[in-house]
Amino acid sequence: MTKKPIAFFDLDNTLCDYDSAIKRDYNDFEKPEYPAYDPANKNIPELRKFVDELRSKPNWWLNLEPYEQGFDILKICVEIGFEPHILTKGPRNCQNSWTEKLLWCQKYLPGVPVTITQDKSITRGHLLVDDYPPYLEEWLEKNQYSWGIMPLQTYNSYFDHERVFEYHGAYDDLYEKISMIYLKMI
Ligand SMILES: [Mg+2]
Repeated sequence: MTKKPIAFFDLDNTLCDYDSAIKRDYNDFEKPEYPAYDPANKNIPELRKFVDELRSKPNWWLNLEPYEQGFDILKICVEIGFEPHILTKGPRNCQNSWTEKLLWCQKYLPGVPVTITQDKSITRGHLLVDDYPPYLEEWLEKNQYSWGIMPLQTYNSYFDHERVFEYHGAYDDLYEKISMIYLKMI
């Protein structure tokens, strides 16, 4: 039997609603000296520190809600014939996330293989679904004949790549694009 082409799926802001949880919890903190959470300023050191504290709380990762756009893409890929795999970055300074990411996948995606890594680009597959342009770029550089799908967010709308399609809720349009990718892969 021919092996199915592999579609890798990111978790944070792809299959799970990471930013809504960060915004909700961060903005509950009393800290008038800091701005409201915005993904665009998430690397400000003070903001980073609060975010790391939030993310280190037990069950924070496990309680993330599924993100509908990502599950749309997953559904299309499975229907068309891709084999889904999870490919997620394990934050170096947040050890609990490694366990909770696996538990989250077992809860919402039973049976789907999970890779938690510090470098996504070392993996080989046919499609990567990811919201973060640098990860798409690095992975596509090492996977020269593969493609990417990017759930559209305010912080990634600038990104343009000849082998990446954006997804912003136009389900039928994406179905056609992923079918086209699939036919190139088999
Ligand atoms: Mg992500």
